[in-house]
Amino acid sequence: MEGSMKAVVKTQPGPGAEMKEVEIPKPGPNQVLVKVKTTSICGSDYHIYSWNKWAENNVNIPQIMGHELAGDVVEVGENVSLVKVGDFVSAETHIICGHCYQCKTGQYHICVNTKILGVHTDGVFADYAVVDASNIWKNDSSILPEYASIQEPLGNAIDTIRAGNVSAKNILITGAGPAGLLSIPVAKAFGASQVIVSEPNDYRRELSKEIGADHVINPIEESLEDLVNDTTGGIGVDFVAEMSGNPTAISQGLKQITPGGSMAILGLPAEEVKLDLTEDLIFKGVNLIGITGREMFKTWYIARRLLKENMIDLEPIITHRFPLEDFNKGMELMKSGNCGKIILLP
Ligand SMILES: [Zn+2]
Ligand SMILES: [Zn+2]
Repeated sequence: MEGSMKAVVKTQPGPGAEMKEVEIPKPGPNQVLVKVKTTSICGSDYHIYSWNKWAENNVNIPQIMGHELAGDVVEVGENVSLVKVGDFVSAETHIICGHCYQCKTGQYHICVNTKILGVHTDGVFADYAVVDASNIWKNDSSILPEYASIQEPLGNAIDTIRAGNVSAKNILITGAGPAGLLSIPVAKAFGASQVIVSEPNDYRRELSKEIGADHVINPIEESLEDLVNDTTGGIGVDFVAEMSGNPTAISQGLKQITPGGSMAILGLPAEEVKLDLTEDLIFKGVNLIGITGREMFKTWYIARRLLKENMIDLEPIITHRFPLEDFNKGMELMKSGNCGKIILLP
């Protein structure tokens, strides 16, 4: 497709990004061009926008930002046969090599050569985006574009909660940012008996309550240990989903687990974390699990079922919608923490 489009481009190192008029990208032989209907802001987009250490080490400038999307395929490369013009799609954002040890043993989500859409390649905060055909996920037509766009972070929440086999168990979610918030309805849909949410931000605590958390707590002002004791009959939680990346939350969360329980960590600490492994992990026989991305493509099938069968409601988690031009407003909200998922509309 010839012509130009608007795109949110990271043009220089340091905070911020620019709305620019750029050429519509050409799909390669194994790629497709998607007309973006909806995108959403992810924590990593904010890291790139604010330009933290991780962004500095991973992002090549200039680059179009964003990776969560839903849209229609408008052009396909010459080798592409399974995706067609007109398909309503989203994208798995891990671009994998297919030949490393992990890929060859079916563990695509931890491919050692992973590149990420919108991090290592041009992204989707634009009118159009190029995506590898092998990363395309065909959406069920009954799923709204806004929800379809959120399937990617929803997949993070699904993988984290799934790691805890939470059915009829008491669980603790530390951190109610977008991924933490998405974990609440997922945990409920998977049959968790009590969901406790620990989060310092008032707005996010309130929202957690609204979308189904049984107990919420500000761990800075109140005792998380007391709440866990009171609500679990002194047993402790069976599982902790760590979504904050905050070192204090990680060590505090680990202490709330009953012996034999488990913890899955999705949040990314920016620094090394000090833990009392002897008391809090080894002698308790706790299982600690790292979560990255989504299992390809098992997680996507689960997301589709949860949405298609109305097992989860994403509506209250989408707190803001802006035209793409107003991406700065969305990023400011991400900074303040006073938001759930933010939708950007090209
Ligand atoms: Zn994301
Ligand atoms: Zn690989």
